[in-house]
Amino acid sequence: MDTFDHNHIWHPYASIPNKIKTHKVLSADGVYLNLENNTKVIDGMSSWWSTIHGYNHPLLNQALQKQTEQMAHVMFGGLTHQSAIDLAKLLIQITPKRLDRIFFADSGSVSVEVALKMTLQYWQNNGQSKKTRFITPLGGYHGDTFGAMSVCDPENGMHYLFADLLPKHFFVMRPTMDNLEEAIEDLRNNLARNHQQIAGMIIEPMVQGAGGMNIYPAEYLKQARMLCDEFDVLLIFDEIATGFGRTGTLFALEHANTTPDILCLGKALTGGYMTLAATLTSQKVAKGVETLMHGPTFMANPLACAVAKSSVELLLSSNWKKQVHRIEKHLKQSLLPLKQHEKILDARVIGAIGVLEFNNEIDVEKVQNHLIEQGVWLRPFGRLLYTMPAFIISDEELSNLTQAIETVVDL
Ligand code: PMP
Repeated sequence: MDTFDHNHIWHPYASIPNKIKTHKVLSADGVYLNLENNTKVIDGMSSWWSTIHGYNHPLLNQALQKQTEQMAHVMFGGLTHQSAIDLAKLLIQITPKRLDRIFFADSGSVSVEVALKMTLQYWQNNGQSKKTRFITPLGGYHGDTFGAMSVCDPENGMHYLFADLLPKHFFVMRPTMDNLEEAIEDLRNNLARNHQQIAGMIIEPMVQGAGGMNIYPAEYLKQARMLCDEFDVLLIFDEIATGFGRTGTLFALEHANTTPDILCLGKALTGGYMTLAATLTSQKVAKGVETLMHGPTFMANPLACAVAKSSVELLLSSNWKKQVHRIEKHLKQSLLPLKQHEKILDARVIGAIGVLEFNNEIDVEKVQNHLIEQGVWLRPFGRLLYTMPAFIISDEELSNLTQAIETVVDL
């Protein structure tokens, strides 16, 4: 452990000094993180869903180097560059047809802020100034900035810290594999009651991630689309975690064959190399928004756009679908039987995402130290131990990963 780091630097969701130990990474390659003390671990987290091709990929390295030689950065106000144009064309081509207007944000949270702003400006300019609130299922997570926080789950999000400052939105029943009809009914009732105040609905399609790793039926998204149309509400899909193949389709929305009005992408967009996100919308919404009041300094950063283009092309030219299905099959075989274990409440798998929900809170430090001894890096939270490995993980590495997870159950 680095004492300076421990005493001076904030880590995510942590205090200074950090209550639990941080581990120093010396380098990373493929699916491996090389930690100090000659410790090599399989990264089962893909650096929070992002490194789908693994670390230190020669093509992505090359894309960055090439872009660096032209320009590392240039402001996007009044200027443009080829990497942004190429990436925009590519994203518009691979996402649903209607979504052909794009805003490049500098992080997932910011892309959510932009989606919320687009929605609010759209209704304001359409003479519906009362439509200022959002509706969203419980258990969601959309980022840590204020607008994003306000639509995160009010219990396990950060509402308790900033309750008086956060705008109040409408929360509906969280859809699960067992409550589809009830959840749709709740959404319908809430929209029927409050639609005059509701500008948009925001949801993570198929999998609610950091709010609880909840997988729910595609039918909920189809119904949500119909209800949003019925009640004049814009639908926002936050695919920041689920995008780029993670759930077995290129975008999770494909499971439901449903197009939102606004789509947020991030994380794996750059293959985990740089921070970049995108908010896409339709011509109709963009027209309604008029001048969009957002413009970060590092908007459409050329390095990030170049590496993102390279990462998306690499994904499309790879056999990612086969890889993700292979990972899914393995995760199902190894994790789902653990449902029978007395310590386990539930086990869930979709695409290259495997989740174990324990009955009790996990001792993060103890479990992490144990996993590192087994050669694996995971970051449990609450009662959840979960993995979303890089798509390039080999069968042997995958077995090592899931065997290590299995040992946690008997710890
Ligand atoms: N939305 C979802 C679904 C996410 O999983 C995350 C990140 N965990 C975000 C938004 C926020 O993205 P960022 O951390 O890049 O701000």
